[in-house]
Amino acid sequence: MKKVDHIGIAVKSIDRSLDYYIQTLGLSCLAIEEVKSQKVRVAFLDAGNIKLELLEPIGEEGPVATFIEKRGEGIHHIAFGVPDIRTRMAELKEKGVQLLQEEPKLGAGGAEVAFLHPKSSFGVLYELCEKSGKGGVLNGYLR
Ligand code: ZN
Repeated sequence: MKKVDHIGIAVKSIDRSLDYYIQTLGLSCLAIEEVKSQKVRVAFLDAGNIKLELLEPIGEEGPVATFIEKRGEGIHHIAFGVPDIRTRMAELKEKGVQLLQEEPKLGAGGAEVAFLHPKSSFGVLYELCEKSGKGGVLNGYLR
């Protein structure tokens, strides 16, 4: 892992929290989109060399809805950008790291994503994310 791509932050409402990030902290919003595979709406904020990803649950199920219910709003995951997600997943598995899924899922901006189980990572939910380079509103920003 060489580069943190973004930090995921669970919020109850993007509409209500975005003002804080833009007006108060002075960050700019790069894009907002729905990520159906994770049952969330996400907003990406430009924080210099990394991005912040606000995650708002859609509906009452899904990983982020469950997270907020149990732990409240706050830091949800840290995402590493990787060039070849399948190779990296296989390497980690070989080293005994538990992954939350066998195959990468489609994430924001058309990226392929996979999560490492916090039990294998000393309490931190890590995401691997590989930018596809094809389509997706965030492409220009995420590369
Ligand atoms: Zn993420």
